[in-house]
Amino acid sequence: MKVERIEIFELKLDLLSPFETSYSRINDRRFLLVKLWLDGIAGWAECVADEAPHYSSETVRTAWHAIEDFVAPIVFRQQYAHPQEIFSSLDKVRGHNMAKAAVEMACWEAYARQLGESLSRSLGGTRATIASGVSIGIQDSVERLLDTIELELSRGYQRIKVKIGPGRDRDVVAKIRERFPRIPLMVDANCAYRLKDLPLLKELDEFDLLMIEQPLGHDDLWDHAKLQRELRTPICLDESVQSPDDARKAFEMGACRIINIKAGRVGGLAPGKAIHDLAATYGAPVWCGGMLESGIGRAHNVHLSTLPNFSLPGDVADSRRYFKEELIEPPVEVRSDGTIAVPTEPGIGYRVLENRIRERALQSVVLKPS
Ligand code: MG
Repeated sequence: MKVERIEIFELKLDLLSPFETSYSRINDRRFLLVKLWLDGIAGWAECVADEAPHYSSETVRTAWHAIEDFVAPIVFRQQYAHPQEIFSSLDKVRGHNMAKAAVEMACWEAYARQLGESLSRSLGGTRATIASGVSIGIQDSVERLLDTIELELSRGYQRIKVKIGPGRDRDVVAKIRERFPRIPLMVDANCAYRLKDLPLLKELDEFDLLMIEQPLGHDDLWDHAKLQRELRTPICLDESVQSPDDARKAFEMGACRIINIKAGRVGGLAPGKAIHDLAATYGAPVWCGGMLESGIGRAHNVHLSTLPNFSLPGDVADSRRYFKEELIEPPVEVRSDGTIAVPTEPGIGYRVLENRIRERALQSVVLKPS
């Protein structure tokens, strides 16, 4: 397998409504797309790096730089037997997982297309449908949050996730539980607490949450292990798990009982799958996180979520919830029972609206072997 050409596009899509986390409030999303030719067949992927280095240290601009100047030149020099080999071939480049993942995932898509099979099949997925949950950004008021939850439940979502942070945690969760005593509910703190907040975090135990996601520091495992020993609620790690090795350490020290897998955060589909496999050996479930992807990144998440140990509903929601314009056809659709049917056509199985991408691109570059 030879990578012949890589094209990078920078896009900016307007959101239907602002999305707020403990990191920022955004009205649009800037991101990169990668189109990669593997032995004459093209594959697409999305780079999940944000405009600002809040969720991770990578940004849209660092990802462009890393792909153009370091990742692509290495990939062009290699002869691969399988996309599984790509991530480890990039060993010499430290970090930049999101940049690496964009190239790695485009290669997987091209590979699946070459074989004429779905990406799910190439990955070893076993599900024909996946269960969909939804992540609700921070709302202006608790009333509005409760109304949004009601709306999302009526659309069929099987699990509700809300963002919490100091000052809007225990009381907000109490109000949610008052109105919806039994819904599958979880919270994501996006690193907003420290161990000194233990008394407050312990209070969350009374709300029968599925899990509390990433309560402590973005690079911490040790304090999470101390915290997990004090909590009945399972901790799910997101930001802190950047590699299969991080996942192993987290399970060995008891820092979490669940992992949120985002292929972009860990360097691609192969490392994502490795974390999935490892979690299974610890009897720990995983689920697929979201990074406000356009349809292309979302489609990759659909296929990744078909691996057997993705046994909890993920954040892979309907693509029409987020952006004013779609980049794929048909949209990623969540049906009234809260599931997404996994496409069986080759690759991601959705048609990429390439003309629209080219028209909307703020800039693009074609990279070739020198
Ligand atoms: Mg998270």
